[in-house]
Amino acid sequence: MSTASEGTAPASIDVPRAVRWIVARLEEEGYETWAVGGAVRDALRGRPSQDWDLATRAPPEEVRRIFPRTVPVGVEHGTVGVLTREGALYEVTTFRRDVETFGRHAVVAFAETLEEDLQRRDFTINALAWHPLREELRDPHGGARDLQVRVLRTVGDPADRFAEDYLRVLRALRFAGRFGLEITGETWRALRDAASQLGILSPERIREELWKVLSGDPTPGRTLELYRRSGALAVSYPELARVAGAGAEGAPEWTHTLSVVGEILPHRTSLRVAVLLGDLGTPAPTEEDPPLPRSHGPARDVNRLRAMVRAAALLMRLRHSNLQVETISGLVGAGPELPSEEGHPAEVRRWLSRVGRERVPDLVRWAAAEARMERGKGGEARRSDVVASWHRIRAAARSGHPLTVGDLAVNGRDLIRLGLRPGPQFGDILEVLLERVLHEPGKNRPEVLEEWALELASKMEGK
Ligand code: ATP
Ligand code: MG
Repeated sequence: MSTASEGTAPASIDVPRAVRWIVARLEEEGYETWAVGGAVRDALRGRPSQDWDLATRAPPEEVRRIFPRTVPVGVEHGTVGVLTREGALYEVTTFRRDVETFGRHAVVAFAETLEEDLQRRDFTINALAWHPLREELRDPHGGARDLQVRVLRTVGDPADRFAEDYLRVLRALRFAGRFGLEITGETWRALRDAASQLGILSPERIREELWKVLSGDPTPGRTLELYRRSGALAVSYPELARVAGAGAEGAPEWTHTLSVVGEILPHRTSLRVAVLLGDLGTPAPTEEDPPLPRSHGPARDVNRLRAMVRAAALLMRLRHSNLQVETISGLVGAGPELPSEEGHPAEVRRWLSRVGRERVPDLVRWAAAEARMERGKGGEARRSDVVASWHRIRAAARSGHPLTVGDLAVNGRDLIRLGLRPGPQFGDILEVLLERVLHEPGKNRPEVLEEWALELASKMEGK
């Protein structure tokens, strides 16, 4: 162990003024304080970070006393948020050590020294501290050198460290994928063994990890491929693992899908999730499959319908909100196939009606990302097809033509006024009327629809 790995210590790290102010104030009061964790790591990689965390010898109540404006972010874990005059919030956490661990959470106690605090951090590259006033790097586990030679390894014995908190398995894959690091042999072997225990983590933590991968990484495919190769995918996302394949190489569809995910901008995270889940329909049905619904929503064929239902089940299992389940599984059900360029204008309206206006921008982005992945002449043609489809779709969406049952010139109340008995067949009648109006928008007039409705009702009665 060395206090700073020779030859790798930077001359200086740029630290926000507010961070220096916080360190200076705490040290004036006699409490040693350091910048720690991800921001120091990112600075060594040459990436400025917004997210500076501080570790201090001061107990939380002292931090709250010393600063004029604080927020109790997690006082029971020793974390106090310090607000600057500009309104920025920095987390200041009292040095900690683990007392007891349970694979999914730990009991911690306050510690005396920075070294103890760094010891409980997961990977060497995350166990770095920088003193912004003395300009000193504290790196007892050689994290700076590991960053330089591009390797990821745990602080201490990897099997022990994963068993203390299995989330570290997924964190390792994320950092290795994101920063292009190679996981050392020993850490990799322990990680693969530990992957089988991922089931003990709460679904929320698994979900948060996935969203960090997809929202923070321009090329998340590397991490997701590591999920596959480590066995983490098979434990946490078994239905995706069936798509991804189990060999040394992933299935071609999986590799393709990962590159399409990377073509979507990271802040469109819901769309990225949808693209990732887009192939869930391909594996054959099993007994665990949820039943397929009668009404199809945005799905066009049985593969897409199955993908939609499986995506919804996966998202619910990971405790996504109802809105997220609806948004993402709806995109999966619609898929990236835009209405063809030559078809009847009614085709575009039917497509719009089925997928819903609000999904159009994301579906066009998905189609464009697919087209960008195609090389050569075929790819060029496909890209101009997407642009042409987009123009047609936009024109149809702006035409004001009816696209939903709600846009029809008659509603349920009108049907009652016509003397029809209210009941479930109202929905069927309105669906047929919409189908006809999508074909011929000019027919969306009360007198036409009323006549059709009476006709349809008497046919249904006759059955
Ligand atoms: P990013 O915020 O970019 O995901 P980060 O390294 O800042 O990366 P955080 O989750 O914000 O990650 O955690 C801050 C620091 O806390 C980490 O750098 C690491 O030192 C420590 N840490 C976080 N989670 C764990 C864990 N599960 N086990 C051990 N140490 C952890
Ligand atoms: Mg962070």
